[in-house]
Parts: sequence; C-alpha cells; structure tokens
Amino acid sequence: MPDLPARRLLLVHAHPDDESINNGVTMARYAAEGALVTLVTCTLGEEGEVIPPGLAHLAPDREDRLGPHRVGELAAAMAALGVTDHRFLGGPGRFRDSGMMGVEQNRRDGAFWNTHVDTAAPYLVEVIRETRPQVLVTYDPDGGYGHPDHIQAHRVATRAAELAADPDFRPDLGPAHAIAKVYWNRVPRPVVEAGFARLRAEGSAFPAVAAVGDVPGVVDEDRITAEIAGTPEQAARKSAAMAAHATQVAVDGPFFALSNDLGQPLLTTEYYELAHGTSGAPEGERETDLFAGVTA
Ligand SMILES: [Zn+2]
Repeated sequence: MPDLPARRLLLVHAHPDDESINNGVTMARYAAEGALVTLVTCTLGEEGEVIPPGLAHLAPDREDRLGPHRVGELAAAMAALGVTDHRFLGGPGRFRDSGMMGVEQNRRDGAFWNTHVDTAAPYLVEVIRETRPQVLVTYDPDGGYGHPDHIQAHRVATRAAELAADPDFRPDLGPAHAIAKVYWNRVPRPVVEAGFARLRAEGSAFPAVAAVGDVPGVVDEDRITAEIAGTPEQAARKSAAMAAHATQVAVDGPFFALSNDLGQPLLTTEYYELAHGTSGAPEGERETDLFAGVTA
C-alpha cells in the first residue's frame, strides 16, 4: 500500500451539510490528529430548500443550480474542519438527491433512492479498498429520520463494507479490505431534551423551536457506545463548517436552524452506536476514541 496514515476514518453521508451537523467535531479532531479522514457524500443535495432569499434562484424548481453551489459550500466546510479528502459517490452528480419520502423526485432516473444498492456500492468499494479505513461512520437503517437518501446511504455503506472485504468481488477495484468498526450516528434523548430546554430558556434568532422528533438518530442513553466531546477549537470548527452550508443551515451561537427556521441545539459532543466490531472501552463504559482497540 502507498503511505497511508496509521488511522483511517471513512464517513458516508447523503447530502452536503449532513457531515458537519453530525460529525463536525469528530472530523476536525481526527484530521488534526493526522488520521486520514475521508468523506463520501452520495448526492449534491440538489433538492434542498434554500434559506437566503438572494440565492432562491438556485432552487430545483427555478434554475436547478443548487447542486454545483453546494459543492462549493461543502469545500468551504471541509476547509473549516481541516479535512482534505472529500469525494462524491461515483463523482459529482452521479446520483441525484431524491427529495423527501413520497415526492415524485424519488422515482426520477438517477435519483439515489431509485438506484439499485448493487449499482451504487461498487463506487464505495473502490474508495474503501483505496483508503482502507478501520472505522466507518454512517446512519442507522432508518437513515436517522427516514429521508430516502439517508436510508440509501446506510444501505450502500453497509453493502460496500461487506463487498470490500470479499476478495472474490471485483478484484479490479483493489485488494480486499475488512473494516474493523462500523458506527451509526446517534443522539441521546436526554441530551437533546436538555438542549431544547436551554434554547427555550435563552431564546435565539429563530422564530420558533423544533421538536425532539425533528432531530435525526435520537435514541435512549443505553444505545450510545461512544462519545466524542469537542474541544472549544473543534466546536468552533464545527460551527464554521455548518455555517459554510449557508443555503441549508443558519447558525446562532449554540443553536442552529435548517430551512424550516426552527431552532435546535448545536451539539458539540457527538455520539455513536457501535453497529459492527468490538468496543475498545472497558465493560459498561463508553468509548471516547472511535479507534479504541483498533490495531493499525
Ligand atoms: Zn441529508
């Protein structure tokens, strides 16, 4: 293998902005520690709603130029996090944002949701065999909250991890590689509830407050197996990365809103559930390092 860093982390996300919201602290930390941090984003987020009125003309029902614009937002976010290896699954624009569940865009040719898992997975197998991650981060089988592209990102990441480890699958894509640990993005319910309580008490720039049910990946505390607490510097990088996705995210101090303009807490500790592999933490304790127990 060419000279790869000793620790390698792969994150698979549906749209530009998901990585910063879910994993900004984690990505900033491991990039700063010299790990290879590879982000694969499955679509350009072409179907997103646009927050700034001055950019409303980019929307899919007008000029339909949101995708290329969000490529630039993602690049700025990655600069804020110190991450240099970011890619789109199959190249930019290969798979299109499918929109929310049930809309006609779900069935469009080239929509990510309308693509067979085994058509999309080989593109990720190639990345896995090149970057040889010990750790994969993606969503749970529900995609965290039922968005078709998030569900499909889970399916493609899971299938690709399986295929990448099989030496008989497409040897032309590189030597087989088994990923040691797979994590799903999670948020513990009490943490979100406390965040909303703080938001209601302190107020924010946003006219109303979201609900716990609007936050993806919320589970009971006992499902959480790892937590990555951001330093003030990592938290600032996460906040800057989220703000870089200006068509999608508005940040106000410790709070943020999506295009619905409903405030929610900006979490600077990130939480995970180990879905595959062995925890490196003592029995009954949470890991504080996703690479815990992994040998290079
Ligand atoms: Zn998304």
